[in-house]
Amino acid sequence: MTEQIFEMLWDCEFCATRKLLGKTHRYCPSCGAPQNPSKRYFPSEEDKVSAEGHEYCGADKLCVACKTANSAKTKFCSGCGGPMEGSKSVPLVSGGGAEGPGKAVLAEVDLREEARKAAGRRTRAKIGAGIAACAVLVLVVLRFSSKSVELSVAGHQWEREVDIESFRASKETAWCDSMPVDAYDVSRSREVRSHESVPDGEDCKTVRRDRGDGTFSEEDECKPRYRDEPVYDYQCRYSVDRWTRVRSQTARGGLAEAPAWPGVELKRTGQCQGCEREGSRKERYTVLFEGGGKARHCVFSEEKWRSFSPGSKRKGKVNALTGLDCAGLAASR
Ligand SMILES: [Zn+2]
Ligand SMILES: [Zn+2]
Repeated sequence: MTEQIFEMLWDCEFCATRKLLGKTHRYCPSCGAPQNPSKRYFPSEEDKVSAEGHEYCGADKLCVACKTANSAKTKFCSGCGGPMEGSKSVPLVSGGGAEGPGKAVLAEVDLREEARKAAGRRTRAKIGAGIAACAVLVLVVLRFSSKSVELSVAGHQWEREVDIESFRASKETAWCDSMPVDAYDVSRSREVRSHESVPDGEDCKTVRRDRGDGTFSEEDECKPRYRDEPVYDYQCRYSVDRWTRVRSQTARGGLAEAPAWPGVELKRTGQCQGCEREGSRKERYTVLFEGGGKARHCVFSEEKWRSFSPGSKRKGKVNALTGLDCAGLAASR
């Protein structure tokens, strides 16, 4: 829709005449009072009067001497005859989206409500930030609040674990364009892979703008709307032979037994379905402590683990948050 021009309305301040036309009635037809441009308002939909063909020459100017609104091209005031040189434009009525004064008031109420809600949101945000700051402070205090404890070495444990892998068929799913070349038993299905944005008409709203000369323009402002469309592709379900971790074997002991890897029994070796091989290895060396009436433990390298003599005493730091400071524990003197 192209731009349309309508008359603004105004109410006479001196008599009870209402809904006077902004362009046509420069003076009140009932009492002759000049139009006060600050009393102009947008009409309701049924009170709209077209001002098509009206030549626009800019917002009205206010006479410096008598404050009468004059057309921008007027040289001498229609109210007092004084020169219009150096006069200022009338203030424009805002809130063009609203229809008439009733709605304008409503809009103002909405604005106040909005402001109140925004203030509420700000308050809640402040409270939230306050709580977060307190929580951080508590964590920082806890982090740096350590107490000393007397520890005695209560025991040693070691654990060595070997993973066992089996060459076997595993069921996998992938987009067919990224399926491995050795896949077999393939089945495919159409699935949603992504979404794309496609145009879906437009959202329009009517915008009214005060032109300042007793008329206003009305125009539909439209923005394109989009919707998400699924994009389909083929997904493949297939079998593929891979080395897969199936179990592990673990050996454990204390200081008395030398740490050793567990004997690994493989069903069948080679590269066949059901063949097995050794996978990754893990080792863990744990020292058990007793201190402050509590059992504690630390994991060390094998060398450091050996350096703690059974029954020896140690000073340790216990943090409220992170527990016993294992790295800070010195070996036996
Ligand atoms: Zn009047
Ligand atoms: Zn004047």
